Amino acid sequence: MSSGFWNTLKRGFHHRRIGGRRTGIEAFIWRGNQPGPTLLLNGATHGDEYEGPAVLLDMARSWRPKNLCGTVIAIPVLNENAFLAGRRETPADGKNLARVFPGKAHGSHTERIAYFFRTQILQHVDLYVDFHSAGSMYEIEPWVGYCTVNDPAITKTQRKMARCFDRFWCWGSPYLPGRTVSAAWEHRVPAIYTESRGGGSLEPGDLANLRRGIRRLLVAFQFLPGKVALKSHPITRESTTRNEGYLQLDHPSPCDGLIASLVKLGARVKRGQPIAEVQPLDGSSPRIVRAAKTGRAVFVRRQRSIRQGEAIATLVPG
Ligand SMILES: [Zn+2]
Repeated sequence: MSSGFWNTLKRGFHHRRIGGRRTGIEAFIWRGNQPGPTLLLNGATHGDEYEGPAVLLDMARSWRPKNLCGTVIAIPVLNENAFLAGRRETPADGKNLARVFPGKAHGSHTERIAYFFRTQILQHVDLYVDFHSAGSMYEIEPWVGYCTVNDPAITKTQRKMARCFDRFWCWGSPYLPGRTVSAAWEHRVPAIYTESRGGGSLEPGDLANLRRGIRRLLVAFQFLPGKVALKSHPITRESTTRNEGYLQLDHPSPCDGLIASLVKLGARVKRGQPIAEVQPLDGSSPRIVRAAKTGRAVFVRRQRSIRQGEAIATLVPG
């Protein structure tokens, strides 16, 4: 049993606004008929990612289970300031909410969100899922991921959680500080994240795959009655290579300019193959960017303008 604020709430569905007036969040809480663990779901850690908010707002409006065990908490939009501006980072302070955990009680706007989310909610739950996407500037071949951590019990639980999202490929990558899932690991809360297609829009098929994953997770961890078959993903990668999974570092643009991507999402690319052409703004010749390794393009640039140093694509071996 957790020690979160929701323990004082009665059975049934609740809506609360939590946190400060400017930095606060809308939280939806389902309290089951039977005691049990607490599952936390959130979207819009980054403000330009819409799949998580769409699915969780839909749950808040329409999901009224009769036979729930334990507690489910959904926060469709964790970073309202960034979401309402349609920006990855928080306009109020320019910070990335997935880089500032554990947060600060009296810090900047983003640091305060991280702090109260972690101390009032995240550290008191038993399972956690953070729904991300490529955001408006990129597209992603949807995956479910987790930190590869040195704890067999947590690893086992995280793999089981990931297998519920069976329409995604699966990528375990190393701990990187500052993220929601790294804060979860620091509190020993098993956690996964999903990455949906993004591109600034919402694909009905991607939303259906997320809903299916949530439904399977609720059954697999006995929040709801029933059975699900959990198989390992056809494509699974578990890596401990430093910086693997840090997409914003991959294939940086050599200059500011207009980019033409030469690889499609999901395509296999050979090392040395041109993956993009960047036309500098000073009218000089386009700069060709080549694949640094052989792999599958799982993250590609969609926005056609690019700054020097911004990522062009991520290739995953295999
Ligand atoms: Zn994100």
